[in-house]
Amino acid sequence: MINNPVYVTPEELAQQEAAMERIAALPNRPETYHIVTYGCQMNAHDSETLAGMLESMGMTEAQDRTQADLVLFNTCCVRDNAERRALGNVNWLKELKKDKPGLLIGVCGCMVQKPQMAEKILRQYRFIDLAFGTHNLHQIPSMLETLLTQKTRVVRVSDQENLIAEGLPQHRAVPYKGFITIMYGCNNYCSYCIVPYVRGRERSRRMDDILREAEGLLESGVQEIMLLGQNVNSYGDGEAETFPRLLRELDRLGVPRIRFMTSHPKDLSDGLIAAMAESVHVCNHLHLPVQSGSDEILHAMNRRYTRETYLERVSALRQAIPNIGLTTDLIVGFPGETDAQFQDTVSLVETVGYDSAFTFIYSAREGTAAAKLPGRLSAEVTGERIATLIRTLEAGAQKAHRSLIGTVEQVLVEGLSKRDEHMVSGKGRRGITVTFPGSAADIGTIQTVQITSSAVNTLRGERK
Ligand code: SAM
Ligand code: SF4
Repeated sequence: MINNPVYVTPEELAQQEAAMERIAALPNRPETYHIVTYGCQMNAHDSETLAGMLESMGMTEAQDRTQADLVLFNTCCVRDNAERRALGNVNWLKELKKDKPGLLIGVCGCMVQKPQMAEKILRQYRFIDLAFGTHNLHQIPSMLETLLTQKTRVVRVSDQENLIAEGLPQHRAVPYKGFITIMYGCNNYCSYCIVPYVRGRERSRRMDDILREAEGLLESGVQEIMLLGQNVNSYGDGEAETFPRLLRELDRLGVPRIRFMTSHPKDLSDGLIAAMAESVHVCNHLHLPVQSGSDEILHAMNRRYTRETYLERVSALRQAIPNIGLTTDLIVGFPGETDAQFQDTVSLVETVGYDSAFTFIYSAREGTAAAKLPGRLSAEVTGERIATLIRTLEAGAQKAHRSLIGTVEQVLVEGLSKRDEHMVSGKGRRGITVTFPGSAADIGTIQTVQITSSAVNTLRGERK
């Protein structure tokens, strides 16, 4: 389903820009900021945009939260523990504020967008100065101005779910990698998932805006672009094959490496597989969340594919791109999941042989369809199931990684190895971490590496 986005008007963007300039000139404004980010890469990229706006107001990034004049928590609410962790950490800052009364504390993102959450925050966390939802991110300049000039707590949670704000400044976490959000929100309503309720309706950016942003990143020297969205392969204006067309256009620009996530298996078309196979710069990696290997559970999850169609898509991918690395997301303990249904997930994982996976225990989210279902499983059962699943995944990954010994990988170096300062590590095009001898001078460059050994999660190699 296509929703027409509403673009934040140039007038409103100009007002926010003017607020940024006024804040930069304020004598009592925060000098330093620190953003704590929870959750997915969309959130990580939202934090880059928040940082960009704070820098445009004259602030600089503090090393940690104890050094900062403004601390922002960009929250997640996909699972209960992400929410609890965020609130626990916010509470910890209450003590810091006693010693540093001028400290400003803000919370934003998905958790704040939940119904009644902002009111709860105001009531229960009286030391929080600023709270805003996912649809208000672009308004941080005017919110901060109100906070600083009127000395009043500010809360903004809009229910306008189809907004897109173009052209906001960004402060990228690393110079060699650039994230581009190509679409926002989600319409899929998987029965367990809260994302459609807190991120709004699915809406896509204009292709020209995306290409212009990619050109800018390329000029600034990025080596890799990651396209982001909850369901990137349904990107577009309703016409068929818009996402493959976007990939081919980006490939033509000459960005050294292109990745994207997340893809929904139901929208993995032959056209997309062909675009991936034929584009020089698109990496041979696909994150393709399966969630479960049981048809009954997939149906109850409202995933709109079956085990058979998922496996057929995997075969089609491997036929077109033999060296493709596959990763996935899996949920154990969906309400009513029987042992036999769980075994279907184990056998699917054995059949596919993923390079790695994110595994989750089902967490009931108020307001979602699955939260009303009977058959919640005990922590003992879900604990055993997730341990079995992780063992199965590791066995498959070890096999897949061993098969890469002797091959050559192009590795984008991201840092020194944590265990050995004479080694560097980064990701190959297939998405697996590779370590090899090197120095800090290699960070941000792409190196050719021959794989010499493998472990569960990493590969080792020698520079060629
Ligand atoms: N849009 C992506 C997709 O469709 O795969 C992923 C979005 S979601 C933020 C990331 C992952 O969190 C999901 O793939 C799912 O495995 C997991 N997840 C979402 N809701 C969950 C819940 N209520 N309990 C446990 N895991 C959940
Ligand atoms: Fe959540 Fe499903 Fe949308 Fe992914 S596709 S964000 S799991 S509702």
